[in-house]
Amino acid sequence: MSTLIRNTSQKGLALSLLVSSMLSASFVSAKGVTWDDIENDANTPEDVLMYGMGPEAQRFSPLQQINKENVHTLSPAWVMSFGDEKQRGQESQALVYDGVIYVTGSYSRIFAYDARTGKKLWSYSHRLPEGIRPCCDVVNRGAAIFGDMVYFGTLDAGIVALDRHTGKVVWKKRFEDYRAGYTMTGAPTLVKDQKSGKVLLIHGSSGDEFGVVGKLFARDPLTGEEIWMRPFVEGHMGRLNGKESTPTGDENAPSWPRDENGELVEAWHHGGGAPWQSASFDVETNTIIIGAGNPAPWNTWKRTAKGDDPRNWDNLYTSGQVGVDPTTGEVKWFYQHTPNDAWDFSGNNELVLFEYEENGETIKATGHADRNGFFYVVDRENGDFIKAFPFVDNINWATHIDPDTGRPVEVEGKRPPLPEPGEEKGKAVEVSPPFLGGKNWNPMAYSQNTGWFYLGANHWKEDYWTEEVVYTKGSAYLGQGFRIKTQYDDHVGVLRAVDPVSGEIKWSHKEKLPLWAGVLATKGGLIFTGTGDGYVKAFDEKTGEELWKFQTGSGIVSCPITWELDGEQYIGLASGYGGAVPLWGGDMAELTKPVAQGGSFWVFKLPKFEK
Ligand code: CA
Ligand code: CA
Repeated sequence: MSTLIRNTSQKGLALSLLVSSMLSASFVSAKGVTWDDIENDANTPEDVLMYGMGPEAQRFSPLQQINKENVHTLSPAWVMSFGDEKQRGQESQALVYDGVIYVTGSYSRIFAYDARTGKKLWSYSHRLPEGIRPCCDVVNRGAAIFGDMVYFGTLDAGIVALDRHTGKVVWKKRFEDYRAGYTMTGAPTLVKDQKSGKVLLIHGSSGDEFGVVGKLFARDPLTGEEIWMRPFVEGHMGRLNGKESTPTGDENAPSWPRDENGELVEAWHHGGGAPWQSASFDVETNTIIIGAGNPAPWNTWKRTAKGDDPRNWDNLYTSGQVGVDPTTGEVKWFYQHTPNDAWDFSGNNELVLFEYEENGETIKATGHADRNGFFYVVDRENGDFIKAFPFVDNINWATHIDPDTGRPVEVEGKRPPLPEPGEEKGKAVEVSPPFLGGKNWNPMAYSQNTGWFYLGANHWKEDYWTEEVVYTKGSAYLGQGFRIKTQYDDHVGVLRAVDPVSGEIKWSHKEKLPLWAGVLATKGGLIFTGTGDGYVKAFDEKTGEELWKFQTGSGIVSCPITWELDGEQYIGLASGYGGAVPLWGGDMAELTKPVAQGGSFWVFKLPKFEK
């Protein structure tokens, strides 16, 4: 029925009003968003139903009304402030459905706007308890939508389902203890288990910096009931239908060390691996694909048997990409980007599903630009390593990824050493990229026009040293100190086009401030992203030439989207500076100090005369 209304409203407002007035609101929306709608999201520009703009997370739109010739005339259609005193980082990607925009804001808020006018239809501000512990600002990265509900995560380790028409809470769950550092910042996603036919709401948790055990959850989207839970530290027990299921990997956790009494070390109990970004879904192989966070604590020696080489202790299943069975929550495959990660590189960055031709074969792969500076192409049917190459300059912790083993070839001395006897801190070593990453969470786009990836990378480095650490619930669990530094005088941010087949960098565009916004690619040959100093910009996909920019008044750390409404193409994104850089960034905090706070959603389209 909602499809009928949408179609009729495009043809004639009168008929639409007539139909609407004849039906109660609940009947009109009886169907809402279906799994088929979500599965086809990437091909249906009238809506944006999923984080990543489709289960493959390519962030590529078939729209081409806005193109290289006319993008310079792109103009604001409307802007709405999120309002009140709550600002900080706005990292959200909006959804669009049935003429309504759903966008989450900082401090666990969500807003519904009329896509035509920007009129606020409803908003919901989650009541946050004292003592939440988000590591990296009070951000939220977006919502999910299914049926008549929208879903989003909250900083008190919860997830909320709201009626998409009214913003009224349908159900709420708290999945873990926020006092221990569990939070939720990533957008949940929907998948359909191809075996059971059940649609599942999938979400993870954040909290590696506080020593959580990272967990991935599947829920019944209608009731919020947990179906399964999978921890990402080897040997920890999973859950299925309310009962213990299987341990993750080997129950004896051989990739984690034991003490002199044969007991698993403290770090294993608080081992991290949190899947805090959003899952992609491979319908064909019925596999949820998601990145696992860093092992906790950061200090490599806490996760290595005394006197041994850390490279003998991989600390599974952290800092890698995981394929998960939606039926049972079992790990189907795992590939580790950074074994025994000593640098908080984590493996969380988005997994983009794409295909390419090589030697007459079609390869079905994931593309992943890791914080460790390497771009990975991995076989998404089994997690086998295919290739990896650097996407930033001056990586100094590893020379390359061994093509035979898929393991990094480390540079000696880049794991911050233990303190000398009598010292509190270890000797500082300079590491590039730093823990903030060659690229961080801000998702890249894959263009079906060019077959290239477009990513917002950063050139920076850090001094890194070890410190003593003992686990205390709710306290930072790092065992490592750091100072982030610049690498070049003229830029930190570098937007890059990367060919995943040849490993070539096709073009680079420098930005003075760090890049922390997602990227969007369109059939119209354009690449959109936002900058730390507040511009939304469009680039030529082939050359990297900057074709348009517009100042939004605060820094941009969100993900742009595009959609079509009433025959016109729109671009929309949130503006509002924050995130990890101003909080953790050392020299970067100084660099970004002049950026004004904010919290608004901007929408752009071509002026009428251009059509
Ligand atoms: Ca769509
Ligand atoms: Ca981390």
